[in-house]
Amino acid sequence: MKNDEETLDPGDWSLSRDLAHQMVDDAVQHIADVRDRPVWTEMPDAVRAHFKTPAPGAPTPLGDVYDDLRKNMLPYSMGNIHPRFWGWYMGSGNFTGALGDFLAAVDGSNLGGGNTAAAMIDTQVVDWFKELMGFPANASGTLTSGGSMANLVAHTIVRNAKAGVDVRAEGIAAMPQPLRFYASDQVHSCHQKALETLGLGAKALCEVATDDHFRMDIPALERAIAADRAAGIKPACVIATAGSTNTGALDDLRAIAAICAREDIWFHVDGCIGAFVRIAPKNAALVDGIDLADSIALDPHKWLHTPFEAGCVLVRDAQRHFETFEMHGEYLQLQTRGLIAGKFLADYGFELSRGFKALKIWMSLKENGFEKLGRLIDQNIAQAQYLETLVRADPRLELVAPVDLNIVCFRFVDGITDEAALKALNTEIMLQVQEAGIAVPSDTTVSGKHCLRVAINNHRTRNDDLDLFLSEVLRIANGLVDSYRG
Ligand SMILES: *Cc1c(COP(=O)(O)O)cnc(C)c1O
Repeated sequence: MKNDEETLDPGDWSLSRDLAHQMVDDAVQHIADVRDRPVWTEMPDAVRAHFKTPAPGAPTPLGDVYDDLRKNMLPYSMGNIHPRFWGWYMGSGNFTGALGDFLAAVDGSNLGGGNTAAAMIDTQVVDWFKELMGFPANASGTLTSGGSMANLVAHTIVRNAKAGVDVRAEGIAAMPQPLRFYASDQVHSCHQKALETLGLGAKALCEVATDDHFRMDIPALERAIAADRAAGIKPACVIATAGSTNTGALDDLRAIAAICAREDIWFHVDGCIGAFVRIAPKNAALVDGIDLADSIALDPHKWLHTPFEAGCVLVRDAQRHFETFEMHGEYLQLQTRGLIAGKFLADYGFELSRGFKALKIWMSLKENGFEKLGRLIDQNIAQAQYLETLVRADPRLELVAPVDLNIVCFRFVDGITDEAALKALNTEIMLQVQEAGIAVPSDTTVSGKHCLRVAINNHRTRNDDLDLFLSEVLRIANGLVDSYRG
């Protein structure tokens, strides 16, 4: 009997198979050839217009859909998989991770929970991160979309632990005292967003002054805590930054841990950039004391090069973590047997349906081993030191911040002293380098000085990429500089 019910499965699997093989072949070539392409290319107007057509009602053969992407999407990507991409703070991805995302979708499991191998892999990845960070086996954690969500999860646990009331039932209005979170003035903006989201307000974040390496000033932290206590504000949490986004600054984790222990304050580490330095054999000491934290936010999609998205939060007190998020509708009751048995992963965060982002991390960790991933971190730090040496050696350039990790902040000066002119000149240099597809640096302002910022978080970068970049910066700058002199 003919069945006329519809499905999304293809009518002819052999066509799908051929097309899928083609996509894999092209993908391998796309990554193998990445060095030969411009880092970034501006989209022509026709391509922009192509993405503004109305929703398709009728079908298109998948082969045509794919051709469309080959032509209109792949040439205009961000470029962070390119060896000369050092803008903002990305990771550079890896092919195994791409296969992992594909296989995760093939498996199809929802990682909200369930008695599945996928859930075992999700849990194992978190267990591996606990092990790598020196956390006890009975700590907990959860994979998140990224570092912002990891920090939000941590701050929610802190708020509930320190509220002084059952804040899940009563809400923040019932809290007897306002809470304060302390962080250095280099803290990432996601923390303010998290505290705003949690109803604590931006004023719940106290930004503590930093020293000449942009590390939190420890006596200033102690003074801020004492002043708050005297004013009836409850010190809840110190957020230490292990690798700041601006300059790669590393707070003194041991000193902050000691203050938190003495003062009964939650010790959170934002390790989105630096936590994995702990697995880098030459530089692990930079994050000494991270294992003392009550919670850590880390970002596999940064220095482990997991394709986006993949973040993680680790929490020493598993019970508090569970009590913050545990919630089950009558349609989702746990059992001791069957498919819904075992630890329910959604009890550790906001999201119920969760993707299988663990698989791309798991595969890459297995394939490479954490020792190699750690050596790649050392390699990036050495490359930043190499670029620092080149900058210091050229009198036309000014190093704007100490290079304490993998971020180099510098600007082209060549005798110009007017800050506005320097900003305009260096912005133009940055844009021309980007638009020519040579490299992608970004920019920032450090101690009032606008500068180019090169964050080397890229397993494809070589020292000769930095040579090329700097010589192109100087070539472009020399052509521009006279029109910026007063
Ligand atoms: C990138 C970053 C974040 C935010 O992480 P996302 O993964 O981008 O959400 C938080 N803190 C620091 C220090 C970061 O560098």
